[in-house]
Amino acid sequence: MSDDLSSLIGKRIPMLDRGYVELQDVMPHPATGIRADAAIVASARVSFMGESKGEEADRKLIHYLMKHRHTTPFEHVVFTFRVHAPLVVWWQWVRHRSASYNLMSGRYIELPEDEYYTPTVWRKQSPSNKQGSLGELESEAGAALTQELIAHYERGHALYKQALAQGVAREQARLFLSGFAVYYTGYITQNLHNMLHFLKLRMADDAQHEIRLYAEAIYREFVKYIAPIACEAWEQYILMG
Ligand SMILES: Cc1cc2nc3c(=O)[nH]c(=O)nc-3n(C[C@H](O)[C@H](O)[C@H](O)COP(=O)(O)OP(=O)(O)OC[C@H]3O[C@@H](n4cnc5c(N)ncnc54)[C@H](O)[C@@H]3O)c2cc1C
Repeated sequence: MSDDLSSLIGKRIPMLDRGYVELQDVMPHPATGIRADAAIVASARVSFMGESKGEEADRKLIHYLMKHRHTTPFEHVVFTFRVHAPLVVWWQWVRHRSASYNLMSGRYIELPEDEYYTPTVWRKQSPSNKQGSLGELESEAGAALTQELIAHYERGHALYKQALAQGVAREQARLFLSGFAVYYTGYITQNLHNMLHFLKLRMADDAQHEIRLYAEAIYREFVKYIAPIACEAWEQYILMG
């Protein structure tokens, strides 16, 4: 099992057209042979030297902790992800204050010209949900809009390059870029308790499609696999509860 989990470190899941989510690290690290669910049990049983009482008793304990919102044992499992996402996704992600972030800066580096999110499908505004979308634009109109968007990115990027060539600082020249569409890379570190809170909000139907894809990939490819019993309990008492 520990070999299995080791292969997850560095695993990259492609997202959208140019993005990805990659697991950088997890605590407990697979090399220790300690499973995440075991770390939760050990911290909850600290008064009893953290010993396992067998698989069934450990599962019952994790379910009990989750059901009764005894949340702190879940904080001893920690994930670090490297994420490449358009700013429209980051804009929503960084609202989750319980994670630690580091983001690349367009003040330090020149932003590359092919790093813009270009959707292939255009969602229509939902008539009932002010924040949501419903249905898709007909494909011919969508394709024309995508071409307009690409031309818009190219024009903005050309102006950005022109400003840089005139000696304008990177921090100001970037005003020419299509802000919400630019891809940024960041590091996110978050414990399991707070990660599950993020996932509940961002995997929900009312979350924006793009961040939802990232949240679903994190849960499906990493979190659920690394802490299966905690996730089983979370689905039962929190997600569906
Ligand atoms: C579908 C959706 C739509 C949204 N729309 C908007 C919007 O239109 N405008 C907008 O501004 N935001 C919007 N948000 C962001 C939302 O208001 C939260 O900022 C975001 O979801 C982070 O949630 P959180 O504060 O629970 O998480 P975290 O910031 O990770 O915090 C986790 C928990 O810690 C506690 N906590 C953290 N910091 C504090 C604090 N300073 N004071 C008290 N308790 C704290 C809270 O219990 C909180 O639930 C939206 C979110 C979603 C999911």
